[in-house]
Amino acid sequence: MIKTSKLLAPLGAAASALLFSSAIYATSHDPAAIQASALKDSLAYEITEGLTTEVGPRQAGTEAEARARDWSVKKLKSLGFQNVRNEPFMMPTWVRGEETAEVTSPFPQKFHVTALGNSASTGAKGIEAEVVHFASLAAMKAVPDGSLAGKIAFVTHNMHRAQDGSGYGAFGPIRWVGPAIASQKGALAYVIKSIGTDYHRNPHAGNTNFPDGVKPIATGALSLPDADNLERMVKLARNTNTPVKMKLVLTPQNIGNQESGNIIAEVTGRDPSKGMILVACHLDSWDLATGAFDDAAGCGIVTAAAKQIMDHGKPLRTIRILWAGAEEVGLWGGKAYAKAHAGDKHAIAMESDFGADNIWRVEFNLPDEAKAVREQIAQALLPLGIGASGPPATGGADVRDIIASNNLAVIDLQQDGTRYFDLHHTPDDTLDKIDPKQMRQNVAAWSTVLSIIANSTADFTKPEKE
Ligand code: ZN
Ligand code: ZN
Repeated sequence: MIKTSKLLAPLGAAASALLFSSAIYATSHDPAAIQASALKDSLAYEITEGLTTEVGPRQAGTEAEARARDWSVKKLKSLGFQNVRNEPFMMPTWVRGEETAEVTSPFPQKFHVTALGNSASTGAKGIEAEVVHFASLAAMKAVPDGSLAGKIAFVTHNMHRAQDGSGYGAFGPIRWVGPAIASQKGALAYVIKSIGTDYHRNPHAGNTNFPDGVKPIATGALSLPDADNLERMVKLARNTNTPVKMKLVLTPQNIGNQESGNIIAEVTGRDPSKGMILVACHLDSWDLATGAFDDAAGCGIVTAAAKQIMDHGKPLRTIRILWAGAEEVGLWGGKAYAKAHAGDKHAIAMESDFGADNIWRVEFNLPDEAKAVREQIAQALLPLGIGASGPPATGGADVRDIIASNNLAVIDLQQDGTRYFDLHHTPDDTLDKIDPKQMRQNVAAWSTVLSIIANSTADFTKPEKE
């Protein structure tokens, strides 16, 4: 190591003043300095690259997710975080089998399909049945019970790209609850136009649910172009009264309760009696790709930001990093965290789970007493092109339960979701899709917010709800 005095000696007064000022910043929590430092970050990308390269797809409950946990503990320890640990929990696990779809008549051709999480199996021989098309979930809901007996119900949508990703909330129910409704109407199987915006021949994976008492049926997502093709076929065939028949082979299995786990790491604060800041992402991914956007990037961003704070000296409050397990398949990690840590003193929860494109808006759900903090954050984010507006912050899937149980304050840094649903849960969610420059803007925004809230003496306790 070079001694500072040796380094300074040959330099002029101006240069040593510069070095001196950065030395002051190195032990201070000046948000502008931390923001500038974070704009040079490479750790978020490094974590995303490591998870996608050294682990790859990380489906919850599988040995791949277990390898991801081992990798994560090692990585977080090597970065110097405190209290790094795995908190295991058990969750029901579903794994993909064979999956094919083909129209057998009147226009025989093969389609690209993937089973939705919790889909039943068609058996190895598959099923062949008439396709009944609905242009919306409401249209399928409207048909009488039993009327889809022996049929494959097929629901499409008209989702478009949107910066705030709002199409997901509007059309997601086709995947989330559509299969259970189709089952209740008697359908033999259910297929959807993938919930996405890419129009590549990539089906989008994702979870669905069959509540108690509803018989699970085989259920798959077709790629968007294939779904459009099938819709055209149904329309053409209607003119000649010929049914469109599809053969579906989906052989997933439930393999019972398996182990998952939450990875936790901390930057311990100077005053543990002050509530901590919880920053979350999820470690698991769907199995079709390496889960770069969803959500290795989120783990990279929140961790790189916490590291920025740690490198600038101990913050007042503890920052706890949560890399949740088993998010994709039912938010098991978030539930396990809330159960295990309801007694811990939290102040604010935040989450990154929407890719790595530029953050464009900050949303708050803070008590009125913290108005000055809100103003300070809004001002500090302006240089990054981020405006404070929009609805109250609600947090993400992994912090939802702890926010609800502990009535926590929330700050959301909203990422640009314009291309998020081109990639979401597809075989295309890979490292090359990460734009390092936009990712650094994310780290800078997160670091700025953390530098303010982790050093704030404000009371973030929200008033009890009536
Ligand atoms: Zn996610
Ligand atoms: Zn996801």
